[in-house]
Formats: sequence, C-alpha cells, structure tokens
Amino acid sequence: MESLVDIQRVSRKYLDGKVLALDQVSLQIARGEFLAVTGRSGCGKSTLLNLIGGLDRPTDGEIFFEGKPLSTVSSLDRWRSEKIGFVFQSFCLLPNLTAEENVQLPLFGKSVNDRIRVEQSRRFLDFVGLADRRNHLPSELSIGQCQRVALARALVNRPALLLADEPTGSLDSQSGEEVLDLLEVCRRQEGMTIVMVTHDLELAGRANRFIRLQDGRIVEDSQLASPKVSGEVS
Ligand code: ADP
Ligand code: MG
Repeated sequence: MESLVDIQRVSRKYLDGKVLALDQVSLQIARGEFLAVTGRSGCGKSTLLNLIGGLDRPTDGEIFFEGKPLSTVSSLDRWRSEKIGFVFQSFCLLPNLTAEENVQLPLFGKSVNDRIRVEQSRRFLDFVGLADRRNHLPSELSIGQCQRVALARALVNRPALLLADEPTGSLDSQSGEEVLDLLEVCRRQEGMTIVMVTHDLELAGRANRFIRLQDGRIVEDSQLASPKVSGEVS
C-alpha cells in the first residue's frame, strides 16, 4: 500500500550549511501508524516534524504526501489546513477566545456553516472530556486542559495526519498520560496517523513504532509489537 508520507533523502541545512539539522533522512509512514520520534535535544526532531507538516521546506530531497511531492504544492498553508493537525508543547491557544472558539478557529475560512462549526467544535471538546468547559478562557483552564483544547483544535478538521511536538512536555505525568490516552483513541477508533516527538521513552513506548534520531540521522527504527496500555503493569 502507498505510504501516507514518503520522505526521500531529505536534508535541512541552516546558516548557509553550517548546521546540518537533517542529513539525508529517508522514512516511510504508513496510514494508521503511531510513530514516536525520539532523540536528544538538537538532534533534528522538530525540524523533521516541521518539514512533514509543510511548515518548512527541505534544502535537499523530497517529501511525498499521499503520493504527491510537497515541492509542487503552491500554497502549503492551504494544504496544511486540509491535511495536517498540529499540537505543540506550548499549546498556542488564543488567550481572549474561549475553549470552543479556539477549537473552531481552523474551520473559519472554509465552506463550513455556523451550525456545523459549532457542532464539530463541541463534538471534539466532548471527545477530549471538556464539554463542560467550552465557555472558559485558557486562563481559566489547567495546563492539561489547555493541551486537550489544543488537541481538539488539531482534530476538528479531521486531518489525515496528526503531528505532535513534545505534546506532554509542559504537563505533569498524569495529564501527559491523558493526552496519550486520547492519541491512542484517535488511532484505534478513527484510524488516524500520528507522529509524536518526545524525549520521554516511557511515552514513546505507547506508540507502535519508534525511531531515534542522532545528529540529523535515523539511527534506530523499531516496531513495538504490543503498545502498552495506560495502567498496565509492565
Ligand atoms: P530538536 O527538536 O531535536 O531539539 P531541532 O530540529 O529543533 O532539534 O534542531 C536541530 C538542529 O538545527 C539544532 O542544532 C538546532 O540548533 C538547529 N536549528 C534549528 N532551527 C534552526 C534555525 N532556524 N536556524 C539555525 N539553526 C537551527
Ligand atoms: Mg524540538
């Protein structure tokens, strides 16, 4: 079957080539996969995620998404809004919008009427367990709840691929587990493809495949046969 993402010898250089953040990386990501990307700080994890999500373009090589080369996509902003959901360590919620309004943001500018927009945002707030917090501002929510709002916002467009960069990096361990539980439900029930950057090997163990980067190269690529379920004794 065709990969959802096919990365072919991609490099990303910064500062006129003085920094080689990614060094001829090739990687195929199948639909429905939950891939954890690990490695030390500075090894190129965020660079890889940003390239896959079209927030940045490679210096060399090509990324194919659903078989189409990203270098031929004229508006990566539009493409991203249709295909990709992003979750960052720092949520990026707008402080003067309520939880529900934040979740609705990706639906503005699309051919979605008001009723559908409200329905969809409520559905995904409900999914992340925050139906009763929809009128709260981010400042009235806990950090873990803010990250769940950010996840609902990433999901509201039903993206083909969810990209999460250290999504639990600002959270206590219990809130982190809750976010991971939700990602697992996305994969199992919705068949969503997920790429999650984390330096937490325990959390990476809940993916079904794991790669490790070092100095911009993939040095380990393992399938995890039976992802651990939350609460399970290992
Ligand atoms: P990670 O997410 O694994 O911590 P990054 O992908 O952010 O790593 O960075 C990989 C390397 O590229 C690091 O050496 C970092 O300093 C460098 N880098 C990242 N972004 C830039 C930039 N905009 N300009 C120059 N160097 C950068
Ligand atoms: Mg990073």
